[in-house]
Amino acid sequence: MTPVFKVISDMSWFQVRRIAIAGTLLGVALLGLAASSVVSEDAGSPYPGMPGIPAIGARIAKYMDVRESAKGPDIDPGKGYRLQNLGNGLYMITDNAYQSMFLAYKTGVVVVDAPPTYAVHIPQAIAAITDKPITHLIYSHSHADHIGGAKSLGGNPVIIAQEETKRLLARAKDPNRPLPTVTFRDQYMLKVGGQVLVLSYHGNAHEPGNIFIQAPAQKTLMVVDLICPGWMPWRRLSLAQDIAGYFDQVEEIKRLPFDILVSGHVARSGTKADVEIQSNFMNDLKVAAAKALSTTLLGKGMDPRDMANPWAVFDNFTDRVMVQCVNALTPKWSTKLAGFDALIWDQCYAMEQSLRGD
Ligand SMILES: [Zn+2]
Ligand SMILES: [Zn+2]
Repeated sequence: MTPVFKVISDMSWFQVRRIAIAGTLLGVALLGLAASSVVSEDAGSPYPGMPGIPAIGARIAKYMDVRESAKGPDIDPGKGYRLQNLGNGLYMITDNAYQSMFLAYKTGVVVVDAPPTYAVHIPQAIAAITDKPITHLIYSHSHADHIGGAKSLGGNPVIIAQEETKRLLARAKDPNRPLPTVTFRDQYMLKVGGQVLVLSYHGNAHEPGNIFIQAPAQKTLMVVDLICPGWMPWRRLSLAQDIAGYFDQVEEIKRLPFDILVSGHVARSGTKADVEIQSNFMNDLKVAAAKALSTTLLGKGMDPRDMANPWAVFDNFTDRVMVQCVNALTPKWSTKLAGFDALIWDQCYAMEQSLRGD
């Protein structure tokens, strides 16, 4: 914990306490009730050992600086995108927030994902490399922020996706996300003009239908919304719908052969080392949440009148588990992963819920 955090946290809790006291007085004035029956004197005061990083809902006056290792090469503002040559006709295209790929072969181009933030630029980025048409479009998964720019590509490409993605897109009925024309269940090998992409499905983690896309000749793996190179995972373990499945898939990614990871987000491509770091963080998170769960007592320090209210007992219990979890992870990880202070509470909540349910 840095002194800056300590000051911020003390200030915000002081303010919360003041608001709570004001609320109490208002309650007394309006309802004529005794203060103690409206709100406890301890309302808004911090739990013992409250972390310096403010909890969800409390303002962080100044977030921690983004580490250099999390940044990527600059984007040309006149272009709105950056191309990264991955070799052998494969390119990553990014606006330094989203990432997608295209693969040029003898007579055409395969596009993987079309994030709406820059999809309008994809045809022009391709035109700088080849005059061949887009023949195939692969969806990594169904989410609109990764494929909602499909219409900007023009033409009538073959659209390939896992069958769960088709099911979700049929439900969404979104004109900007046309339905796949080719689907598969476990694996699909796309061979075009001497180029190969291997698509494989490993079950639910982020969402059903989210696939791994391997380009063996280019030693590249694209997996979207699982790994955040240099950063904390996005909110609640990258919004994993199945957190146990998410842990399994990160392990699978570690075992695959690749040098470059296209992760769908952040400003730079990733490496095996980035996957290793995220995996270590996730394991520390799991250990910290498990330890906090096993050492926290239900109802400790609560107003006895609330003990018959299970929602209140668990709110208080979960709060104290979070305090322990955040404190356990801060010394090691706050200096290793960008965005730690923005999302660590969120990650602890997600992990605690998963450990109690999965
Ligand atoms: Zn997604
Ligand atoms: Zn995403």
